[in-house]
Amino acid sequence: MIVLGGRALGLEFAQMYSHMGTRVTLLQRSHRIIPEEEPALSDALRQYLEEEGIKIKTGVRIKRIYQKQNETVVVATVNGREFEARGEELLLATGRDPNTNLLGLETVPVGLKQDGAVRVNREMHTTAPHVWAAGDVIGEPMQETIAAKEGATAAENALSGTHKKIDFFPVPRAIFTSPQVATVGLTEKGAHEHGIECACRTIPMSKVPKAIVIRETRGLIKMVAEASTGRILGVHILADGAADIIHEAVLAVKYKLTIDDIIDTVHVFPTMTESIKLAATSFRKDIDELSCCAE
Ligand SMILES: Cc1cc2nc3c(=O)[nH]c(=O)nc-3n(C[C@H](O)[C@H](O)[C@H](O)COP(=O)(O)OP(=O)(O)OC[C@H]3O[C@@H](n4cnc5c(N)ncnc54)[C@H](O)[C@@H]3O)c2cc1C
Repeated sequence: MIVLGGRALGLEFAQMYSHMGTRVTLLQRSHRIIPEEEPALSDALRQYLEEEGIKIKTGVRIKRIYQKQNETVVVATVNGREFEARGEELLLATGRDPNTNLLGLETVPVGLKQDGAVRVNREMHTTAPHVWAAGDVIGEPMQETIAAKEGATAAENALSGTHKKIDFFPVPRAIFTSPQVATVGLTEKGAHEHGIECACRTIPMSKVPKAIVIRETRGLIKMVAEASTGRILGVHILADGAADIIHEAVLAVKYKLTIDDIIDTVHVFPTMTESIKLAATSFRKDIDELSCCAE
């Protein structure tokens, strides 16, 4: 199978088919998989997938795709050098577009963005006075969970005249590969782009006692904090169960907690969630010098 696309869906399906015995080649246009995420997460996940036998090529430009007998042939280039990838199946996971083109929204008129997404403000109100919108149709982040929140907000604002707003900053993102990716808030690059001076710490999961106990030490956790205040701006996890672990970080980002708030909070030992406390502690101390649970 050839998989086009190296973000959430492409990676999840590539690994699922690979685990079922399919030989998978994944082609990604940008220079790394999950390019919006921290480079350390992309690099480590790529390494794990390649170790499992998935072939990954990045920086790929597709030139043409054609069918030859029972095979699909993808002709592409990397750094100007042409190659062919052949597979019995081709899986397209190159992204989703809001499905608005046949709705006649221009007659209302409801404003659209360049990619076809319905333009809304933070109250989910479109440019038309009596039209609200929610879900994938308004564009990123396109997830089940935020679609539900947007829907509830749109309905409440439309029907009861309230002006509830959605804060998109603490919306977590997850990729259900093994190990999983789960992230919230700003990356280090994102903090720089917002003009925020940040401090960052990264710890490998091999420093987390529970990860050692369950022999699943692949991955890492990176914490991004505002340098002057210690406020947690982002947390980026690649680990077994990352999508479960992330919620403490979501609350930290949403309620503007600092690294010292996390350090001051007693965590259960041994748990994978302790990784968040260890990442926070690593801003203040060398965690290699600490005995279990010490702050
Ligand atoms: C393979 C895959 C895996 C995913 N995994 C996850 C995940 O693990 N976690 C997560 O949070 N999100 C996941 N998502 C994203 C999630 O499915 C979407 O964000 C979510 O379904 C968006 O909800 P929605 O109601 O906006 O749109 P949809 O669920 O797409 O619902 C839109 C509905 O509108 C209908 N419709 C469209 N046009 C018209 C029309 N003209 N008239 C009437 N009806 C119309 C459609 O038939 C559909 O029933 C995944 C998406 C995909 C494709």
